[in-house]
Amino acid sequence: MIAATLTAKRLLSEASQTWELSFTCSEPLTYQPGQFYSFVTQRDGKQEVRAYSLTQAPEGARMVLCLNRAGWYSNLLCNLETGGTVQVQGPYGGFVLREGPGIILADGVGIAPVAAMVDALLRAQSNAGPLHLLHTASSESEMFYRDRFEHAEREIAGFHYLPLPGVEVAPHLEEILSQAGDEKPTAYIVGLNAFAAPLRQWFKDRGWDRKQIVFERYD
Ligand SMILES: Cc1cc2nc3c(=O)[nH]c(=O)nc-3n(C[C@H](O)[C@H](O)[C@H](O)COP(=O)(O)OP(=O)(O)OC[C@H]3O[C@@H](n4cnc5c(N)ncnc54)[C@H](O)[C@@H]3O)c2cc1C
Repeated sequence: MIAATLTAKRLLSEASQTWELSFTCSEPLTYQPGQFYSFVTQRDGKQEVRAYSLTQAPEGARMVLCLNRAGWYSNLLCNLETGGTVQVQGPYGGFVLREGPGIILADGVGIAPVAAMVDALLRAQSNAGPLHLLHTASSESEMFYRDRFEHAEREIAGFHYLPLPGVEVAPHLEEILSQAGDEKPTAYIVGLNAFAAPLRQWFKDRGWDRKQIVFERYD
């Protein structure tokens, strides 16, 4: 188990009660951008585990999360004072970038693993093949990491960012895919199940194979 000590916290959105929490861990972290760690704790004598995606490319023992106050454990994390410690293990998960063209659909804090992927592209100054990012949420204040994505759009050839606050994703998706012709870009879908499951079905209905869909649901 790795000990993670909170070093900084900031409120990203009052409306959605979303926080960014920065930790220093007891050892350097080796993970692929897009992966998550499991946060392990006890509640009434029983072990509880919650997953959180990391929002930046690996950088020593640093761990940065983006999370909503949703229920019991996320409130506990958001209430943690700097200097407080939690126990984590990982990395886990297959929500990582593949070679070739892709379209990423993220809702709300589902943007967290995407922020890590794009941080890695920026650090490597690598091209994207092409990669479209569509981020939906109910309000403008939830367009987290917008500066990073706009910066990436200027710096990374092939990277396109479309913030969609309060906007339906389907028409934009249709338009982007119509420009891709017959090619089927890898579909990356991440967020709560109510967002993610219908989109996965949308791609399946249009002939995407299971293997061409990289999917992560938060609940
Ligand atoms: C692979 C993976 C990665 C995840 N990464 C993140 C992340 O980067 N940031 C993050 O905020 N959460 C993330 N989650 C969700 C997280 O693990 C917890 O489920 C969430 O914080 C709720 O736990 P809780 O104890 O606070 O709420 P609980 O008491 O367990 O209640 C959960 C309830 O809150 C609802 N809910 C509202 N918002 C969320 C939300 N954001 N996630 C899950 N449930 C929600 C659920 O539908 C459910 O009804 C991830 C989950 C998975 C499986």
